[in-house]
Amino acid sequence: MKTVALIIPCYNEADVLELLRTELYRVCDPLQQFNFEFVFVNDGSKDETLNIIKRFADTDKRCKFISFSRNFGKEAAMLAGMQYAVHADYIGIIDADLQHSPDLIPEMIEACETEGYDVAAARRSDREGEEALKSALSGAFYKVINKVSEININDSAQDFRIMKQKVVLSILSMPERIRFSKGIFTWVGFNTKWFSHENRERAAGETKWSIRKLAKYALDGILGYTTSPLRLALWLGVLLCVVGVGVGIYAVVCRFVCDELLMQSFITLYSVLFLLVGILLGVIGILGEYLARVYTEIKGRPVYIISETNTK
Ligand code: UDP
Ligand code: MG
Repeated sequence: MKTVALIIPCYNEADVLELLRTELYRVCDPLQQFNFEFVFVNDGSKDETLNIIKRFADTDKRCKFISFSRNFGKEAAMLAGMQYAVHADYIGIIDADLQHSPDLIPEMIEACETEGYDVAAARRSDREGEEALKSALSGAFYKVINKVSEININDSAQDFRIMKQKVVLSILSMPERIRFSKGIFTWVGFNTKWFSHENRERAAGETKWSIRKLAKYALDGILGYTTSPLRLALWLGVLLCVVGVGVGIYAVVCRFVCDELLMQSFITLYSVLFLLVGILLGVIGILGEYLARVYTEIKGRPVYIISETNTK
């Protein structure tokens, strides 16, 4: 019998877990030809999440839990889940809040099992119910990342997916610590069937993503998949040199031909100064961002720390 392991990252999801389990059972129990495993990853929740998933594990041996020592983020939770679940034939990821409809799971498994796809993934068909600002920022982010990076991320793709074991093995072969799954999923490739999916409201609880967290995530995405901002510095340098030489020639010509002072006032000088210093600092900032990431990667710290689990 083939095994399907579903990974559920949970951060303060106590309000929704019972409902999620009921839904998962309702959808998965009829699929008698598969062994299911539900891998709950508690990402340092401060509410009752851990106790609830431990209770699930006590009453049903298909329920596994991995509990982190603190909040490490959804990326870390997904990674821990995949590292454990990689023994399964099919590995899935689904949010705890029921925004990802479990009803798609049977079709997703079917796509991998009989239609020859390696990945069955959900993408949202609309952004209904999302804050306008968040929507606009996220739209802009995908435009930028797809323009400047080597990968092409589908802007409506979600983490909700079922993958064959070989896909997860290739994801796990990527050793980076700053993980940006949307990029990783795209980067590894494989034959993917997309399922359109309406944006649903959370069943309970609230979103864990603030604009600040999203901005950091976006920066990790862009800097992780392209080095073109570094090249920007080079081109800006070349451009400024050309402008500098041009202005120099103009100054000499003016001095001898028109006998006019090039810089009419200090204001012009100052504005040019500010602009140049601004560009310089900006470029140093970009360098710094890459350097910081190199530093984080090279320290080689674990992506997460497990404090308790029933998987060992
Ligand atoms: N999550 C997590 N760690 C975090 C933030 C979120 O494991 O630091 C989980 C969360 O419990 C949920 C999923 O990731 O199962 C998606 O989070 P959320 O619903 O808050 O994000 P949104 O749907 O608003 O993008
Ligand atoms: Mg959600």
